[in-house]
Amino acid sequence: MNSYLEKVLNEIREKNINEPEFIQAVEEVLTTIEPVVNKHNEYEKIALIERMTEPERLITFRVPYVKDDGQTVVHRGYRVQFSSLIGPYKGGLRFHPSVNQSIMKFLGFEQIFKNALTGLPIGGGKGGSDFDPKGKSDNEIMRFCQSFMTELQRHIGQDIDVPAGDIGVGEREIGYLFGQYKRIKDTYEGGVLTGKGLSYGGSLARKEATGYGLIYFMREMLNANNNSLEGKTVVISGAGNVAIYACQKAQQYGAKVIAMCDSKGYIYDKNGIDLDCIKQIKEIDRERIYKYKDKHPEAEYVENSSIWNIKCDIALPCATQNELNLNDAQILVSNGVIAVGEGANMPCTKDATEYFLANGILVAPAKAANAGGVATSAIEMSQNSMRYYMTFDEVNQKLDNIMVNIFNSCKNAAEEYNLGNNYVAGANIAAFRKLAKAMKAQGIV
Ligand code: NDP
Repeated sequence: MNSYLEKVLNEIREKNINEPEFIQAVEEVLTTIEPVVNKHNEYEKIALIERMTEPERLITFRVPYVKDDGQTVVHRGYRVQFSSLIGPYKGGLRFHPSVNQSIMKFLGFEQIFKNALTGLPIGGGKGGSDFDPKGKSDNEIMRFCQSFMTELQRHIGQDIDVPAGDIGVGEREIGYLFGQYKRIKDTYEGGVLTGKGLSYGGSLARKEATGYGLIYFMREMLNANNNSLEGKTVVISGAGNVAIYACQKAQQYGAKVIAMCDSKGYIYDKNGIDLDCIKQIKEIDRERIYKYKDKHPEAEYVENSSIWNIKCDIALPCATQNELNLNDAQILVSNGVIAVGEGANMPCTKDATEYFLANGILVAPAKAANAGGVATSAIEMSQNSMRYYMTFDEVNQKLDNIMVNIFNSCKNAAEEYNLGNNYVAGANIAAFRKLAKAMKAQGIV
């Protein structure tokens, strides 16, 4: 490995010893940008990689709230303002018990590269809390969101930092967060949060954007390799925002989605997943996925087993980080998978990705393939600034064009460095070159 990159990587491992996910995300990027760094000896003197891997600001705060039974509970809130190099910090909020500093930093770091790939003027950030919205009443969710925003509002603004949703934060939570922000600031700053409800500044097609974008990227990737989605069997992990709309678009392109899951188990329906039923369970009833069997008794529900044991042509991990490991990758490959599309952030472990690539499997990397959500968030911000609403078709068409451009950036960068169809490296290189250029131009900050 390039000696400068190796030195930085070792320093990062030492300094962040308790942050395995962050180290993993940095390692993945640094090992793939080597051919670019080799051509730029000047980076070392200006500590370009050190600056790119150190957040500009990391904020943690106390979030107390009162439960319905009168008990006060304290959670920890985070906002990582990682990079404002090419625009205001931008990235979602995650409410999940697993949230910690490592996960926040890995997500914030990935976000910088993802946002650069969209071609839009947005920097990278991420935030959230170790609060678990599952099983909480609406009032508890509202009180928690209000408490969270009471602190977060000091640090955000439509030209400073613009959070959105992520795991556990959907339209309901964004609504409560937005209401509290507006109340404290006493100003209508429509663009301070994205993923808003349609009646108060949200964008049509934002809800669908990450899942749709993933499938647009997959379509381009398959096309470029003389293949298509038509008639393919697809397994999707998760049954949340990304998974549901990836399923919808894949079905529209003639693919057959045969399995989806939540964190408790998976549903395998050989006749093809009934998405309306999944939407009812997850978006409306906020129930567990096994309820699918109430309507479809012929489907199989399996607990405590990997969804990746199911034979498929295309695997779409859309749940969470490191949900697909080397063993899963080996099973998928032996079952004849042809392509993997990362809807979630860093869902494949590093050795799983390497195994796919070594076996000629097409991999659509998260930074590129799931960038449709944040790109559409940026379109939501534009609409808020213009005091204007675009139609669903207008937004969807822009999203499609953006995903085509992102795919082409990954493909062109991979070709330029003789990396064949390694779009993982292509995505990292394309994003890194843009960021490095901006960093050099802006001096030592
Ligand atoms: P949601 O909260 O809407 O859904 C997450 C889904 O994944 C749920 O069905 C959840 O099940 C399931 N899940 C979580 N952990 C596990 C696990 N360990 N094993 C199996 N299933 C699991 O989140 P999103 O769909 O918004 O986000 C999913 C991923 O996509 C995340 O990595 C996120 O960072 C990424 N992403 C999201 C974007 C967006 O626009 N929403 C944009 C770009 C990336 P359960 O309900 O049981 O917990």
